[in-house]
Amino acid sequence: MSTRFSRQRAAIVAYLSGNTAHPTADEVFTAVRTDFPNISLGTVYRNLNHLCEAGEVRKLCFRGSPDRFDPLTAEHGHYVCTKCGRAYDLPEEAFSGLDEEAGAFAPGSVSSHELIFYGICKKCGQYH
Ligand code: ZN
Ligand code: MN
Repeated sequence: MSTRFSRQRAAIVAYLSGNTAHPTADEVFTAVRTDFPNISLGTVYRNLNHLCEAGEVRKLCFRGSPDRFDPLTAEHGHYVCTKCGRAYDLPEEAFSGLDEEAGAFAPGSVSSHELIFYGICKKCGQYH
């Protein structure tokens, strides 16, 4: 891999590092374009997929949204606002024991889960 591509990937990693907004590939593209005006959306996609395969980034599929990318690879859940589309992290502590509970109904052992909850967030002004 050439230095140019390594630097592009490094820029993508730097943008995602500590980023809790779960950006789409388009958002990553817009951000890294500032420093790499010639980068293509396809290159951004390829780098994101590579990072996912390498386990450095998680790809998330939420209802009604393009794929999102999450640098937080430790197991955790998500809450997605159906109004503004923001995706919030939910701490894994909220689901302790869930694998075991699901295991009681599953046709085999349960080792992990991916949970997505949907609702309307407080920032959108709907309090319950
Ligand atoms: Zn919202
Ligand atoms: Mn997350």
